[in-house]
Amino acid sequence: MLIGQGIDAHRFAAGRPLVLGGIEIDYDRGLAAHSDGDVVIHALCDALLGAAGLGDIGHHFPDTDAAYEGIDSRILLRRVMDALQERGLGVHNADLTIAAQAPKLAPHMAPMRALLAGDLRCPPERVNVKATTTERMGFTGRGEGIAAFAVVLLDQ
Ligand code: MG
Repeated sequence: MLIGQGIDAHRFAAGRPLVLGGIEIDYDRGLAAHSDGDVVIHALCDALLGAAGLGDIGHHFPDTDAAYEGIDSRILLRRVMDALQERGLGVHNADLTIAAQAPKLAPHMAPMRALLAGDLRCPPERVNVKATTTERMGFTGRGEGIAAFAVVLLDQ
């Protein structure tokens, strides 16, 4: 077994869709980023790459590369999974936490879990997605952005 963790944070920006865990969420702001700003998938990719000893998402998909401008982060996630699969690695389970003061994320947890399990090539029961506010403290609490945390366990 190999364990990995990943964290990511992005600032809110007007005029962008909000995409979290591959799900587009109705909100008046999105997240600023070179890609689609999917902070959940970025944290997850870093946890997967970390467990596999393959560095980080910025190394594999640099934000200076025009090829990744506005890219659907699920494409990056699937590429990370391809790299793991080539090395004989698969996901045992993943546990994700999203820190956001708003919007309300509870209705999106189940679809997010199903979608991510598909990309992670494992059963939905092995992917847990949680959301929390930070009680109005810190950058997430002030509504400046969203942070995500991921822990994964890989099977060899
Ligand atoms: Mg990111």
